[in-house]
Amino acid sequence: MQLTHTYLELGERFFELNSPASFRSPSLFLWNTEVEEQLNLSGEFNSEVEQAHYFSGSRQLPSSKPLSMAYAGHQFGHFNPQLGDGRAHLLGEILDEQGNRWDLQLKGSGQSAFSRNGDGRCALGPAIREFIMSEAMYYLGVPTTRCLAVTKTGESVYRQNQHEGAVVTRIASSHIRVGTFQYFAAKGDIESLRRLADYTIERHYPEVLQQKEDKYVQLLASVIEQQIELVVQWLRVGFIHGVMNTDNTAISGETIDYGPCAMMGAYDPKTVYSSIDRNGRYAFGNQAQIAHWNVARFAEALLQLTNDDNDLLEPMQILIDGFSDKFNQTYVEMMHQKLGLKTINHELLSTLTSLMLEHKLDYTETFDLLTRSLTCNKALELVTERLGDWVKLWSNELDENEIDNVQQLMRKANPVIIPRNHIVEGIIEECEATGKPDAVMAFLKVLKAPYQDTEIAENYKMSDHEFNLHYQTFCGT
Ligand code: AMP
Ligand code: MG
Repeated sequence: MQLTHTYLELGERFFELNSPASFRSPSLFLWNTEVEEQLNLSGEFNSEVEQAHYFSGSRQLPSSKPLSMAYAGHQFGHFNPQLGDGRAHLLGEILDEQGNRWDLQLKGSGQSAFSRNGDGRCALGPAIREFIMSEAMYYLGVPTTRCLAVTKTGESVYRQNQHEGAVVTRIASSHIRVGTFQYFAAKGDIESLRRLADYTIERHYPEVLQQKEDKYVQLLASVIEQQIELVVQWLRVGFIHGVMNTDNTAISGETIDYGPCAMMGAYDPKTVYSSIDRNGRYAFGNQAQIAHWNVARFAEALLQLTNDDNDLLEPMQILIDGFSDKFNQTYVEMMHQKLGLKTINHELLSTLTSLMLEHKLDYTETFDLLTRSLTCNKALELVTERLGDWVKLWSNELDENEIDNVQQLMRKANPVIIPRNHIVEGIIEECEATGKPDAVMAFLKVLKAPYQDTEIAENYKMSDHEFNLHYQTFCGT
């Protein structure tokens, strides 16, 4: 494995060079053979013991140059000028078969200059959660970071209770965040800010260099587009990120940091599970507004690149002002695909969401039933029991001669399987109790085909309304 280090070349203002902690007897808990193949790592390691040492950070991969990245961020609306990787190490970048560049990062691998009061550690439960949730999102077709490994450190981590410690190895197309830009903007370090912006363009959005408009304005336009695409996909599958701070907003447009995330069961835009989100800032239905707010913070940072030749304010303001309309258009199109409709019918959609809210209907189950109802009388009966006359109004809008195509279109947007909260928590508990990953492995098989109604999926489909009424997630991963 040959790691490269383009981020390191940006210079020492961007990070702290920092070695991971060493654990005496780490052991491999989860290993992602698909990511292994993607990164061309097959045959690289002699044993699981060796893998455990490398991916807990206990032994340094030969070409790695570990560093902890610097960044700032707005947390729940409040600016913190210095966050940074308090428990993560970027080992380097790796090129996959297609020539795509991936960051290889350890999380839970020890303290850094950015740890503040944190212990630099990660508990096993949240590490498993990140593995499951990111795989689920990947197979649902939502842009996301992925995990290569979860390694047990053999040491204890103390949160409210004592837990087993773990290190997650994750890949991301980069770990550059809105907060990385804010870090340099807040310091007034314009040289580094410009370097970061140029690096980001080259790595993620090289096409902006072909366009006439200012490249930083185009960068903002591209990031806005990716954020809209991302959050619309979250809304499609019922995902609640839970902590959409600007330091958890990846410039690449990938879902990152699965701390307190959860899936919405019964439809309600106000759904919040995170124990620290007391005002519902990051509720399911607020995510569009927050993405808008976050890209406005990104624009503010970029505005510092204004000079005599380029006035960025006006074109950037236009882009930020245009966010809501663009978002709504993408959202409405996506929801119409969920309903198999080619022509926009706002009233039909809003009546459905009102009915789901009023009757506390499960979001995933409702759309799954609607999809099935086109070819299955039992599903049609069931969904009519729940949605009444609305079903007739909806089916009148569908193209009768094209029912198979309509159903296929709907199925692409409507999963049968999502990583339901009660299932994920049950699996984590089982892993913690048995020390074995079998329950995760079984679930992953199901998550790999979320749009297929297979026999093995049966036990994972049930909605979790009662469980969700009391469900709480935590940041303290
Ligand atoms: P998060 O909410 O996980 O995105 O983390 C927010 C900030 O807190 C980041 O700067 C993290 O690196 C830092 N952080 C979270 N947990 C720990 C920990 N256990 N030790 C050190 N830093 C941490
Ligand atoms: Mg974070």
